[in-house]
Amino acid sequence: MKTKKLNSWLETIAPEYPLMIAGPCSAETETQVMETAKGLIDKRVQVFRAGVWKPRTRPGNFEGHGEKALPWLQKVKNETGLKIAIEIANAQHAELALKYDIDVLWIGARTSVNPFAVQEIADAIRGSGKIILIKNPVNPDLSLWIGAVERFHQVGMSDIGVIHRGFSSFRPGAYRNEPNWQIALDFKNRFPNIPMILDPSHICGRRDCIYDTAQTGLDLQYQGFMIETHIRPDEAWSDAKQQVTPKRLLEIIDKLCLRKKQFADPELLDKLSFYRQQINRLDDELIELLSERMKVAEKIGHIKKQKSVAVLQTDRWKEILQKAIEKGKNSGLSEKFINRLFKAIHQESIDKQERILKKN
Ligand code: PEP
Ligand code: MN
Repeated sequence: MKTKKLNSWLETIAPEYPLMIAGPCSAETETQVMETAKGLIDKRVQVFRAGVWKPRTRPGNFEGHGEKALPWLQKVKNETGLKIAIEIANAQHAELALKYDIDVLWIGARTSVNPFAVQEIADAIRGSGKIILIKNPVNPDLSLWIGAVERFHQVGMSDIGVIHRGFSSFRPGAYRNEPNWQIALDFKNRFPNIPMILDPSHICGRRDCIYDTAQTGLDLQYQGFMIETHIRPDEAWSDAKQQVTPKRLLEIIDKLCLRKKQFADPELLDKLSFYRQQINRLDDELIELLSERMKVAEKIGHIKKQKSVAVLQTDRWKEILQKAIEKGKNSGLSEKFINRLFKAIHQESIDKQERILKKN
């Protein structure tokens, strides 16, 4: 996928600040939509979002007003000057979005998992010149995300962006949707010309971690945000816990620290290059150490083979992990990090030993 000019739309709508797409999870009533939008008239907010078709996990919840809500959004555009954005999940939604001249269309996380739905939407908006934003699929699958983007690129859409909204996880954690930053960063590295927008609302699932997550996004050079905003968040018909008032959103924007992309000061550059060299050297040492550790694991593999012992020795593994966690704690390394690191190391040792045991 050649992505040279896919970001020019961003410079047009948000030339000075990060792109800010704000507005309620769902368009509930004309009054709620208008009151929220009026609170968002600010030069740092460019696009008003509202869901009119809501993909709900369980039936019986509010599923959006559909077409009836689209004139409310047109009114927002006419009265506030904000651009308007909605989620579309099938060809019929796409046609209605075009009929009501919605400016920005986004593909939800439950739709980007489905190549049939994505293709159907791509065919329906082909040639429309609209801005299309593709949320990451609910499951942590980089190729599926890239595939969805490719389907829009293939039909000639040229104003494309992606939204990182986190990934479903089986284990309950601090986030509603695990950020798995690495997946989004891998996307960014592969397609640096496609703007990456962060949706801290759906990552956090609660309003108190939105600022912090948004700051991480800026530190990682994301180019914009989608943040759910409601005039009375506690009364919201969907996603009440994660929405903030327009006033709070503007406070969050005030607090966010925009970091410079590059260091201009030569003295700082020198210091930075000194530390970067140190990092490079330490990384080399880490790799050498890991390789040495794997060679020892292979020796153990040969002994296990001779004696027909199983590769996985649960008690020994528990002991290794426990020790590492303790040591890590004393050295300022979090348990979560040690867990992840040692699981990866252990997996590589198991793979190596398995290969030895299976070799004739
Ligand atoms: C939304 O933006 O309201 C929404 C449904 O998001 P997601 O597709 O990320 O779940
Ligand atoms: Mn929502």
